[in-house]
Amino acid sequence: MAATILDGNKIAGEIRGEVAAEAKLLAAAGMRPGLAVVLVGHNPASEIYVRGKVKSSEEVGLYSEKHTPAESATTAELLSLVEDLNRRDEIDGILVQLPLPPRVDAKKVLMAVDPAKDVDGFHPMNVGFLSTQRPGLVPCTPGGVMELLRRSNIAVAGQEAVVVGRSDIVGKPMAMLLMNANATVAVCHSKTRDLAGVCRRGDIVVAAIGRAGMVTRDFVKPGATVIDVGMNKVTDRAEFERFFKGNEKRELAFAKNGSTLVGDVHPDVAEVAGAITPVPGGVGPLTIAMLMANTVRAAKLRRGAAVPVG
Ligand code: NDP
Repeated sequence: MAATILDGNKIAGEIRGEVAAEAKLLAAAGMRPGLAVVLVGHNPASEIYVRGKVKSSEEVGLYSEKHTPAESATTAELLSLVEDLNRRDEIDGILVQLPLPPRVDAKKVLMAVDPAKDVDGFHPMNVGFLSTQRPGLVPCTPGGVMELLRRSNIAVAGQEAVVVGRSDIVGKPMAMLLMNANATVAVCHSKTRDLAGVCRRGDIVVAAIGRAGMVTRDFVKPGATVIDVGMNKVTDRAEFERFFKGNEKRELAFAKNGSTLVGDVHPDVAEVAGAITPVPGGVGPLTIAMLMANTVRAAKLRRGAAVPVG
């Protein structure tokens, strides 16, 4: 039986609706949540992401502002901008779009963001809060995956979960969130022996690798839930055919654009999995929705007892 497709767009829409309602209540009480996005230089992919984030903020009723220091900005200049945003009360969330230019000390800049405004959840203080199960800000992509599982009624407690990838942004916080939700978690990476064998144990498999279609059907236990975080651009015809041969819709898009997106999971896995996220339209839309949710959460956390934190 074909897998249930977990519709990330639909769930992201639900989350955005809830965020909009909360933002409206806060705004009515004179506390409109505000997000500041810092985009340094002219990285085309970053420009697209930032545009999406600002647009989404406006749609859910957050105040948002964009700062665009030049490519030549120094670490000291960026630190001064972050300090200024830290001080401003109408700013609840600060997002420094990565990657920063190589000359800039990115770690130093990210460390300077007030942990209470760190809507990406990358500051070591928030990493510590997550690992000790204290209220804090959780990275958007793994946070979005947990929402997707919860809202799709997929059981996590007591299940075997396998996370492929151990990055600070996705893999590690993903593993921590699943463990906090009482899954038994294995974390795999490039040095894992018998990756397919470990993945086959998973009732839930999360792929966050950055390698097109690496997780094939022999990695997946029949009926397992497969979450595909990967976003890989395919431009090569032979590679395209390895994934989408005979898929008319994809053929048309590929012919028109010269590229298509594929996840870390081979599309054939949908024939063995019980439930699976598509790419695009799976985890991607949830990442931005969770950024919105984190900004509202930061606004509430910063105001302490004045607003109940959900
Ligand atoms: P990183 O490159 O930081 O991490 C990749 C991880 O995969 C590493 O831990 C690496 O292991 C592991 N890995 C690489 N090759 C193999 C292999 N052959 N076998 C097993 N493990 C391997 O990537 P990110 O975590 O930042 O992103 C992962 C993917 O998710 C990318 O495709 C990215 O574009 C996508 N992404 C999507 C988002 C969304 O909103 N949908 C948001 C963020 C990321 P090791 O540690 O040993 O090197």
